[in-house]
Amino acid sequence: MSENLLVIFVFVFGTVIGSFLNVIIYRLPREKSIVFPPSSCPACGYKIKWYENIPIISYVFLKGRCRNCKTKISIRYPFVESITGLFAVFTYLKWGLSVESIFYFVFICLIISIIFIDFDFKIIPDELNLIGFLSGILFSFFREDFSLLDAILGAVLGAGFLYLVAYLYFKLKGIEGLGLGDVKMLAFVGTYLGWFGSLFTIFFGSVLGAAFGLMFSLLKKKKYEGQLEIPFGPFLGVASLIYIFFGEKIKQFYFGGMG
Ligand SMILES: [Zn+2]
Repeated sequence: MSENLLVIFVFVFGTVIGSFLNVIIYRLPREKSIVFPPSSCPACGYKIKWYENIPIISYVFLKGRCRNCKTKISIRYPFVESITGLFAVFTYLKWGLSVESIFYFVFICLIISIIFIDFDFKIIPDELNLIGFLSGILFSFFREDFSLLDAILGAVLGAGFLYLVAYLYFKLKGIEGLGLGDVKMLAFVGTYLGWFGSLFTIFFGSVLGAAFGLMFSLLKKKKYEGQLEIPFGPFLGVASLIYIFFGEKIKQFYFGGMG
């Protein structure tokens, strides 16, 4: 297979997985089964046919509406499919067809799910953090750059540090600024990124969150006042994704190697 064809195949594969992530994102926080029943329109219950469920393409063909009741379908469905497809390509370009690619793509899929679920519901399902944590531990046995000890150290340090921040915040301000879900998420992320990567995720995630919070409060109208509650998970997620692709460069820069 030619290289270009392979990249297209990887992208299509990614969009199919992205379509499954949409199911997880919708059903997991609503405590519905992931595998059954097949997809239906949330507005009218219309059973979506397989050919109306093709990633990205079906959305375009249906002009973003349910065939039966014409209710608008969120643009987020094709968006999640597209970014998952793109990340599959990035993963392939960085790690090729390898064990690393499989594990990093699992990591990315879990993070994408967490980002959207936390954004919607301000929760991070334990299932996702647990699968992530266990897969990260398993991955450490296959890696040359990383040992089991690195994975455990990353989990303990990341989760511990975030827990400490949350604890101090609570003591100082009397507000629960962080959920335990974020702490568990860092245990998961730490098994993949190690101690330096998990600290980077916390710091860079905080910077992103603060920037977003500031932008939001500058732009916000009166009606939003008092409703401002930004979940932290999505920012931690974005920071961790940056690290898995640019981690070596960030590390080199930080420790003065400059590469
Ligand atoms: Zn409908």
